[in-house]
Amino acid sequence: MIPIEREALKNMSNPGSLIQLRRMLHAHPEVAGEENGTAERILDFFTPLKPDQTLQKLGGTGLAFVFKGKRPGKRLMFRCELDALPIQETGNPAYKSQIEGKAHLCGHDGHMAILCGLGEIQAQNRPEKGEIVLLFQPAEETGDGARAILNDPRFEQIKPDFAFALHNLPGYPLHQVVMRKETFAAGSTGMTIRLTGKTSHSAHPEAGLNPAQALAELIRKLPELPKEMEGFCLITLIHAELGNLAFGTSPGKANLSMTLRAFDQQDLDQLIENVKSLAMETASRTGLKINFDFVEQFAVSVNDSDLYNIVEKTALDLGLSLFEKPEPFRWSEDFGLFSQICPSFLFGLGAGDSCPQLHEGTYDFPDELIETGKGIFERIIKEVQA
Ligand SMILES: [Zn+2]
Ligand SMILES: [Zn+2]
Repeated sequence: MIPIEREALKNMSNPGSLIQLRRMLHAHPEVAGEENGTAERILDFFTPLKPDQTLQKLGGTGLAFVFKGKRPGKRLMFRCELDALPIQETGNPAYKSQIEGKAHLCGHDGHMAILCGLGEIQAQNRPEKGEIVLLFQPAEETGDGARAILNDPRFEQIKPDFAFALHNLPGYPLHQVVMRKETFAAGSTGMTIRLTGKTSHSAHPEAGLNPAQALAELIRKLPELPKEMEGFCLITLIHAELGNLAFGTSPGKANLSMTLRAFDQQDLDQLIENVKSLAMETASRTGLKINFDFVEQFAVSVNDSDLYNIVEKTALDLGLSLFEKPEPFRWSEDFGLFSQICPSFLFGLGAGDSCPQLHEGTYDFPDELIETGKGIFERIIKEVQA
């Protein structure tokens, strides 16, 4: 463990209770959009802290707690996620998930505990200047939560000047701060191409319009499209469907689903356009009807360069090791949407070299990170408001 400056730990009121809180949240996971019980537990934690403003049911099950400073200043938002995953926990901690097939395997339980700890500090000692907004966002895993928060009319009341978030990172040394200038994590979207032809008796395929060849052509050509782009882009085919298992019928429909990703928002938008035009050209040439569906859309997470300097200084002041990642992460975080509305910063916090990967059945957020995360956020507030 990398030692953290004494000064930074001075406010460590009761780390044990934050660990208990984290484990209680871990035992009662709820998946995206269903986080009502989790929101209630968080509300119970914050009510005695008497925040200056509490917003409930924000963007669905979300919550925001506002602590106002003694003097006017910038409004800083710190965001964590309420949701767990629809995956069975296969580890066996004493506080193992009590819900079959659902578990906190992305560490959002730990991220919540960090923000709860930050709330305790604000309650004991209001910020010198400005306002602190602690946002508990629903549905990060599906990419719906950040958008729902931003679309909630009450978001105007808490719209920040700066937004921050961290994500724990297995495979990096415990407590290491992993940062990047500009793009931190890729943008991505799920996309389905639906082709419609006409069914016919399989004895007379010429009487129908079978999309099989068009589907095969798209499966072959689509993964090649990123080669035409300059920046990093990727198309991963994830599911294909042709008609039904009915041997007497020549099929009349096909679906092809894929995930598109890029490190640059314009590249992602361009990639979507390129997929559309290739698919539309294929469909019109073969006489098929076509339409598109998009799901799980994540914006690119772009880090602000001034905030980079602040987070870098914070990490160094706290004696934490720093790692500047040469390439952005290929996965996506819906925090990216906040980077479209204000300067924002997303960084990683190492969860240990031997920690199971995120979304693995045995993953369990390291409790030691609660105090580290809390200490970093607390110091960021001081640096920004200085
Ligand atoms: Zn996750
Ligand atoms: Zn996550």
